[in-house]
Amino acid sequence: MAESVRVAVRCRPFNQREKDLNTQLCVGMTPNVGQVNLLSSDGATKDFTFDGAYFMDSTGEQIYNDIVFPLVENVIEGYNGTVFAYGQTGSGKTFSMQGVESIAAQRGVIPRAFDHIFTATATTENVKFLVHCSYLEIYNEEVRDLLGTDNKQKLEIKEQPDRGVYVAGLSMHVCHDVPACKELMTRGFNNRHVGATLMNKDSSRSHSIFTVYVEGMTETGSIRMGKLNLVDLAGSERQSKTGATGDRLKEATKINLSLSALGNVISALVDGKSKHIPYRDSKLTRLLQDSLGGNTKTIMIACVSPSSDNYDETLSTLRYANRAKNIKNKPTINEDPKDALLREYQEEIARLKAMVQPGAGLVVNNFSIEEERKALRDEFEKAMADLRGEYEREQTSKAELQKDLEELKAEYERANANLDNLNPAEAAKKIQQLQDQFIGGEEAGNTQLKQKRMKQLMEAETKTQKLAAALNVHKDDPLLQVYSTTQEKLDAVTSQLEKEIKKALSKFQSKGYEREIEDLHGEFELDRLDYLDTIRKQDQQLKLLMQIMDKIQPKSKKTRLHSLERKTRVDGILPEKSTNRDNSSIGIIMNLYHFPGYVQEPVRQEQALLRSNFDDKLRERLAKSDSENLANSYFKPVKPSNVINKYKSDLKLSTSKNLFPAKTPTFDGLANGVIYSDALFERAQSAKRPARLASLNRNNN
Ligand code: ADP
Ligand code: MG
Repeated sequence: MAESVRVAVRCRPFNQREKDLNTQLCVGMTPNVGQVNLLSSDGATKDFTFDGAYFMDSTGEQIYNDIVFPLVENVIEGYNGTVFAYGQTGSGKTFSMQGVESIAAQRGVIPRAFDHIFTATATTENVKFLVHCSYLEIYNEEVRDLLGTDNKQKLEIKEQPDRGVYVAGLSMHVCHDVPACKELMTRGFNNRHVGATLMNKDSSRSHSIFTVYVEGMTETGSIRMGKLNLVDLAGSERQSKTGATGDRLKEATKINLSLSALGNVISALVDGKSKHIPYRDSKLTRLLQDSLGGNTKTIMIACVSPSSDNYDETLSTLRYANRAKNIKNKPTINEDPKDALLREYQEEIARLKAMVQPGAGLVVNNFSIEEERKALRDEFEKAMADLRGEYEREQTSKAELQKDLEELKAEYERANANLDNLNPAEAAKKIQQLQDQFIGGEEAGNTQLKQKRMKQLMEAETKTQKLAAALNVHKDDPLLQVYSTTQEKLDAVTSQLEKEIKKALSKFQSKGYEREIEDLHGEFELDRLDYLDTIRKQDQQLKLLMQIMDKIQPKSKKTRLHSLERKTRVDGILPEKSTNRDNSSIGIIMNLYHFPGYVQEPVRQEQALLRSNFDDKLRERLAKSDSENLANSYFKPVKPSNVINKYKSDLKLSTSKNLFPAKTPTFDGLANGVIYSDALFERAQSAKRPARLASLNRNNN
């Protein structure tokens, strides 16, 4: 069933700067009906209605209990859920997502979700859970793993028909409890990019997504997988206001690219007419694709400042949020998904168990040592044939081939030896290590904890119902109320009538709709000016760079060659341009130097004559700089090592020592609880058992 994106607005208290400047309050709220009123300097108000309105004194606890709690409950049941914080820099996004640990009521959505998930797993009987997390950042349209071994490495976004969009090579960390999750949150948060702008010294200029995957397996073996995305977006403000220049400007432009792409996706979804939703326009929208118009329950927390000097940004945020609430998603429970990590554990345990069965030569549960050995051999032979074929095609040196074949053989022998070395005691230990990663049911008898969770859920539901009732269109209809006297009823009706007249009049007097149009115009105008400003600044930067380049190298290669060409034509050294010749700069050089197979016959005779005059001049010019030697670099011999590296990277082989897929979850990976997204999926994709060589403990020789 389709359901709308739920939107709550949170207004933070005045900060010191605003207090010092004595700025005016421009935001008003009526929390019990989700109303937000924005007051402009000329006294006109704009009214918006949301699924929640949280004023300055609100707490992280209220927001979580009212709107996030039911969503996380759904994630535990196997739905996907996304919570994202939107708003200008300094409006309280990070405060809402992370909050402050020292004030209990102000802990944010992320740590509360951890508590919630682990309470739920502990109090649920007969289900084994596997909880794992990932944390990534999108900075300058590049995706990085905040929990990976190399924070600088850029990761690619990939898409597969069965799995949807995912980040290849993202590390996923198995967690057994709240402290483990918090440790990941803190570690990742400290790895985020921060840059100082005038708005807020510590503001983060990146978008971050913390994801918690909750997989549950019932006793019958069926798996459900819920995924919770906790998104802290970068500031939505216009860059002219931030005073960004140089690197900061470059960042701001890219951030706006992602955010305006998000805006376009929202508009296209709300519009309902467009068949094409531009998810692919930015990394952010690609990754949030499922959360906007897809299989996910979504909440947006729009954060605003109370101060009148942020009126424009607040209006823009409220408009954005107002549009977002019209997006419809179609969430469904993810049952028995192919890429469940739990399945990997199940299979690895089954495999180890089968291997140590007495008479393992026989087939047990479809696994046997003999079968395993044969598969290992096949895999080795295929890899060897591939490698040899590739080398022959590339005609690279025999020595290189020999070396790599030897490494491949050594790897095979190591893996084969592991099969022999597997003794029952060791296998039992490994099985235990894998099973230790599961959690669930530890507090099954704790009725107090169970009741607390139920109570929270009931309260959230009551709150939603109350809000819905308050928003009912007949709420103010005096004819539907019960009055003790006719006079009371008359008074109520009269006052309602007066209110309606006042509303209509004020709309008429202030030309409400015209004003709305003017506002929109104003907003577009601001955007336009902002883009112009960006273009101007980038233009200046480009000019500066050109000047610097000119100082270092008076003219670029291409310009030099073209002017040289022009000059030779004017001087009559080269004939006028004709169609039967390659007139590119490189073509001229190659024609003149008579490269075999390149020169066309009609040109050849002319060249003998031209060369004698031209040779000296050209040689003299080209000799001035090594980097100018285009002909040489054009015919640069291909190094055998380049070909090998290309082949290896094609096969995702990172080093010559590691000739089998590097990131396939090995036993070690599963036991340590660090698995890489692409490896997990590739294995699920091929729908077979783990690659044999890689699935064994390679270092255990
Ligand atoms: P953003 O992430 O949107 O750039 P922050 O969350 O970092 O903004 O908030 C900016 C500042 O305002 C921080 O010092 C934060 O502690 C404070 N702040 C934000 N929201 C609130 C709030 N609701 N109550 C108290 N302080 C807040
Ligand atoms: Mg922030």
